[in-house]
Amino acid sequence: MPPTSTPPTDTDSAPPTDTDVVIVGAGPVGLLLAGDLRTHGVRTTVLEQLGEPMTESRASTLHARTMTVFEERGILDRLGELPDGGRGHFGGLPLDLAAADPGHRYAGQWKCPQTRIESVLQERALELGARLRRGLRVVSLADRGGHVLVEAVADDGGRTSVTCAFVVGCDGGDSSVRRLAGFDFEGRAATLEMLRADVAGIDVPARRFERLPNGLAVAHRWPDGSTRVMVHVHGASPKERTGPPAFEEVVTAWAEVTGEDIGHGTPLWLNAFDNTSRQATRYRKGRVLLAGDAAHAQMPVGGQALNLGLQDAAELGGRLAGRVRSQDRDDLLDGYDLVRRPIGAHTLDNIRAQSLLLLGGPEVEPLRDVFGELLGLGPVRRHLARMISGLSGSPASAAQHPSPSEGIPHDPTASTDRSSKMGRLTDKTALVTGSSRGIGRATAQRLAREGALVIVHYASDQASADETVELIEREGGRAFPVRARLGVPGDVHELFLGVERGLKERTGETRLDILVNNAGATTPAGLGPEEVTAEEFDRLFAVNAKAPFFIVQRALPLLSDGGRIINISSGLTRFASPDQVAYAMTKGAIEQLSLHFARHLAPRGITVNSVAPGITNNGSAVFDIPEAVEQMAQLSAFKRVGEAADVADVVTFLAGDEARWITGSFVDASGGTLLG
Ligand code: NAP
Repeated sequence: MPPTSTPPTDTDSAPPTDTDVVIVGAGPVGLLLAGDLRTHGVRTTVLEQLGEPMTESRASTLHARTMTVFEERGILDRLGELPDGGRGHFGGLPLDLAAADPGHRYAGQWKCPQTRIESVLQERALELGARLRRGLRVVSLADRGGHVLVEAVADDGGRTSVTCAFVVGCDGGDSSVRRLAGFDFEGRAATLEMLRADVAGIDVPARRFERLPNGLAVAHRWPDGSTRVMVHVHGASPKERTGPPAFEEVVTAWAEVTGEDIGHGTPLWLNAFDNTSRQATRYRKGRVLLAGDAAHAQMPVGGQALNLGLQDAAELGGRLAGRVRSQDRDDLLDGYDLVRRPIGAHTLDNIRAQSLLLLGGPEVEPLRDVFGELLGLGPVRRHLARMISGLSGSPASAAQHPSPSEGIPHDPTASTDRSSKMGRLTDKTALVTGSSRGIGRATAQRLAREGALVIVHYASDQASADETVELIEREGGRAFPVRARLGVPGDVHELFLGVERGLKERTGETRLDILVNNAGATTPAGLGPEEVTAEEFDRLFAVNAKAPFFIVQRALPLLSDGGRIINISSGLTRFASPDQVAYAMTKGAIEQLSLHFARHLAPRGITVNSVAPGITNNGSAVFDIPEAVEQMAQLSAFKRVGEAADVADVVTFLAGDEARWITGSFVDASGGTLLG
């Protein structure tokens, strides 16, 4: 239920508004957003042009990410059991969407008519206290500085005005909000058109994206006995239309492609759609935001348009609520644009590729053959299925902005985006800095083997970081890379942009359970204590001591109670090696970090420890020289150099529940180097 406290107001100086947020459009996107805003106590009014809810179901497919969004909000319970939607497709080529993550509770696709989704979302929004005003067409928006004046016209010509702090256009492809607020909507005009209809009284064979010599045909029988037909005659380009196509057009096209006559049927719903691909160049303009089809127009293929829109709304709700509460949190709204627009662009690209495969004439056959072969490969299936299901990370170009601390609370036990493989760290998330190679890589692999979702951080060597992720994924684990050079201004901010974004994408939240401060810089060989320069000294401290300190500080709001911080020190804090004095001093500092933070964080059950490796094979060239290795081996009581896995095992132990009683501790993992 929404909080009952005094409703938030946007500014002290602005005049009181009628409502905090006006949502234009009572489709699934607007209604989901309205309910979400109400869970945060935001006064919300929805204006809808239609006097009554739509009766036709344009879309009916829900993907894994959307199912999770619905589950977290109790919407799935309201929808009741949904039928499994069977396998999916990519441009009409069969693709089992369960390949995205077979352990995901909602792997695959699920069916629910859009009318039902809308009615449940409307019921939820109204129960939570949203105001819904139907039969009102928005005709003007005026930004009055502290608020927006929205004017709408009723069917009988009467005018209504509403003042609010923000307006969100969820009013579909022909969005009035987008037009009135002057958003640029760039992309490609349609070149191909497809007709669809729900027809009663016909009996045609079921067809799943059947490509025939003259075009494409789809036929699907609804439970009420009517049939959804979709048809495209090769090369058919979009017509100038002011309304739906005539049934005769559908009958003619169907006959041309399939040779079947459906003219005796009764059309229940008629529609034409095309391969338009356009996106707003920004999702926010001052106090006006866009979500769903208002922000992006795409061919409705495989339910992606609906799912993309619902996921926009899910991202926006908590952010907008946070902004309504605090006027200095514009970053939350900018973050909405920065998070969702690249995802939209990426989805539009993949839909364009699908529309080519689906609607292209005989010339695309060779491409379909190659694609068909590629879909025989597990990683390809997984990649595409994750993309369609909304489970893949966002495109690398996407930046991240702070998530709203006021975001919809997520029940960790309900979070299903995690591996089903039970390990000691299943359902945990871990950040390992400097895990593109060496000890960091081994640690990332080891934590992932125990079931943790691992953030593979690196400075510059992207190929190696990708390789770490690949090695983890090959073993069935989960990981994603984040780049951030440490020791330079803005380093920690950059790191956490990537961390929060990646976590949010994969788990729906930004909770971090394990932090391993492993990245480290070393003194260049041959730089004796008398040659160390101030610059070199500062560099070492910036990477090895300052960055870990501020990483811990920045991680605190994300770290779960009972979490783990493990700082990688060095055996050099226990024995003298003059050439390494500056480096050893940084490691002494990180041990102090562990000690003092251990005391500070004990009330939250977070343990903080240092692990000190001795000479450890990190894959660098010196370990290829047998004589050098032999010499280094003599330092260990076991007379061998350490392997990265030797250290990774110790870190993993400290990351687990078994180590709950160890904190503020220095753990020697040097193979007895200190024994003399
Ligand atoms: P490594 O192989 O040299 O790898 C270093 C990792 O840290 C890489 O992932 C690197 O990323 C990252 N990194 C380096 N400088 C960075 C910077 N400025 N910003 C962000 N990331 C940076 O390391 P290692 O030998 O496995 O050592 C891991 C930790 O153990 C270090 O803290 C080290 O001091 C400590 N240690 C190592 C030994 C040993 O013998 N290996 C002994 C005692 C202690 P890129 O790949 O992108 O450059």
